[in-house]
Amino acid sequence: MPTYAHRVDTFGTTIFTEINVLAQQYNAINLGQGKPDFDAPADVVAQVVQALQSGYQNQYAPGPGVPSLRKAVADHVARFYQLDIDPARGVIVTSGATEGILASVLGLVDPGDEVIVIEPCYDSYVPSIIMAHAVPVYVPLHPPTWNFDPDELRAAFSKKTRALILNTPQNPTGRIYTREELMLIAELCIEHDVTVICDEVYEHLTFAGAQHIPLATLPGMFERTVTISSSGKTFNATGWKIGWVYGHPDLVEGVARAHQFITFAVHHPTQEAIAYALALPDTYFQDFRAMYEGKLALLRSALDGCGLKYVAPQGTYFVMTDYSDLFDGTPTEFAYYLTKEIGVACIPPETFYSAEHLHIGSNYVRFSFCKSDEMLLGAKERLAKLRK
Ligand code: PMP
Ligand code: GLN
Repeated sequence: MPTYAHRVDTFGTTIFTEINVLAQQYNAINLGQGKPDFDAPADVVAQVVQALQSGYQNQYAPGPGVPSLRKAVADHVARFYQLDIDPARGVIVTSGATEGILASVLGLVDPGDEVIVIEPCYDSYVPSIIMAHAVPVYVPLHPPTWNFDPDELRAAFSKKTRALILNTPQNPTGRIYTREELMLIAELCIEHDVTVICDEVYEHLTFAGAQHIPLATLPGMFERTVTISSSGKTFNATGWKIGWVYGHPDLVEGVARAHQFITFAVHHPTQEAIAYALALPDTYFQDFRAMYEGKLALLRSALDGCGLKYVAPQGTYFVMTDYSDLFDGTPTEFAYYLTKEIGVACIPPETFYSAEHLHIGSNYVRFSFCKSDEMLLGAKERLAKLRK
């Protein structure tokens, strides 16, 4: 009887789907998937409505993305990071960052090449590497501060290393790599002639003065880095799935060739709205950060009240918490217990790890705080039962 390909043998149902179903079943407050429960800005939504009704944007967009959005991406990068990007040859609009990651791996890595990933990491990286018939090589972050060991990073590089996937600010740990850490990554990538696929979707979610430094801004890195971002995070619009990849045209060419045959083009009217959104004044991005500072404070007070231990995240809308004082079991067992008995859902990080490093995250679960203040206060009330 026909069956599915070996390529997808190891791909189970994603943890986000699994926890969403469980949370719904037990009517839990869902602090699992990083999905805001509030809307995109009204003026940005109005732009989509206008685009839908204009009669000009309901057919295929240009494959690489509409010119206005590619220009807006380049302008945004120039405004915040002083990088000079060619909108015509240095930007590709993708169906979310998830397609950006896959198109980058398929377009920049050959079968048999090694790709370094720093884990725990976003769950699509390794499947993307596997679908490209490349080989993931894992470097762990060490709790509670989630730093990598420079010697372990150095040891991961070999003659076969073709690329490294970096994520800063980092999901799920909330780390923002320091300039020193990035300099070491840069030095090793230059020494071994390695391409970096840099996922910066949480670029505007930084806390307590932590500074997000795009890897592409470091000396010698622009020509070997493609950078990925997404409107889902910055404009509370995860459902629109508009992401982008930017970088040196020679690398972006590889991404563009893969993208042509993954989606060809992405949702047309939404692209115009994101072009508008990326040009919003600095105050939008400041208010966005301040809103999340407030939500982080609410989640922290919930965690402090119940005995879950954590190191405050420097960025993203996630907190990794250590439950070892409260529960004896695996992260999945704890997540199920918390959802069913306490009424709060969270993400167990097993699928963010390779088998060799799974033990490192064995006492941790991830909470997201991209939720209404009411939800976060409700979670605080429910989590208080944990201590009792
Ligand atoms: N990278 C990271 C680190 C993420 O956390 C996410 C999703 N939340 C993505 C990529 C995917 O972004 P998108 O929804 O735009 O595909
Ligand atoms: N990136 C989101 C998270 O980490 C989820 C995205 C997804 O469901 N694939 O929660």
